[in-house]
Amino acid sequence: RIVIGVLAVQGDVVEHVRMLEDVGAHAVRVRRAADLANVDALVIPGGESTVMMRLIAQGDLLEPLRERIAAGMPAYGSCAGMILLADRILDGAAGQQTLGGLDVTVRRNAFGRQVASFEADVTVDGVDGGPVRAVFIRAPWVEEVGAGVEVLSSVALPTGGEAVVAVRQGNLLATSFHPEVTNDARVHALFVRMVEHARG
Ligand code: GLN
Repeated sequence: RIVIGVLAVQGDVVEHVRMLEDVGAHAVRVRRAADLANVDALVIPGGESTVMMRLIAQGDLLEPLRERIAAGMPAYGSCAGMILLADRILDGAAGQQTLGGLDVTVRRNAFGRQVASFEADVTVDGVDGGPVRAVFIRAPWVEEVGAGVEVLSSVALPTGGEAVVAVRQGNLLATSFHPEVTNDARVHALFVRMVEHARG
C-alpha cells in the first residue's frame, strides 16, 4: 500500500488523513524529518502559510522537505499548501518564504475580503464524473504559470475573467480549494494515481 505523509504542523490534517484512507492509501502524520523517510508522497494541508512555514523551520523540516520535493517526491498542496509549493508569492507577509518546486506565482488571499470564502462547482482535468464542489477559504489563486505547468481548473470571477485554481507540474499538484472538507475524494484519488505512476 502506498504511504502518504500529511504534513502535521498546523492546518486541517485530520481531513486529509481521512480522504487518503478513503481512497486506499495509508496516511501518516509528518512532524519531523525522520517521518519523511517512510513516505512515498506528501500532502500539505490548508491552514495559515506563514504559521506553517515558521513551524517547518522550527522543526528543522525546511531543508528535508525541499530536498525530497526537489528529488521528485509527489506532493499535493491545498490552499495554504498551494502557497507552500509555489516558487513565487504575491501579497505574502514580509519576507514570506515557501518550500517551492512548483513553477507558479500565487497570490495569497486573492479573492479578497468581500468574498473571502465561497463555494463553486469547478471541472478539474483528470477528475472524471462531473464537477467538483470547490470550497475556497481565504484562498490563493495562481496568477502566472511556467511552461511546464498544466492548468487543471479555473473559476469564473464575479468581476469578470477567470482565476486558475488547480495546477499540476510533474509530480506536484496544487488546488486553491479544500476537497478535504467535502465528501468527495476524487482529487485525492487523482493524487494517489500520480503517486502510483511515480512509483512505477
Ligand atoms: N490565507 C491562508 C494563507 O495565506 C490560506 C487559507 C487556507 O489554507 N484556507 O496561508
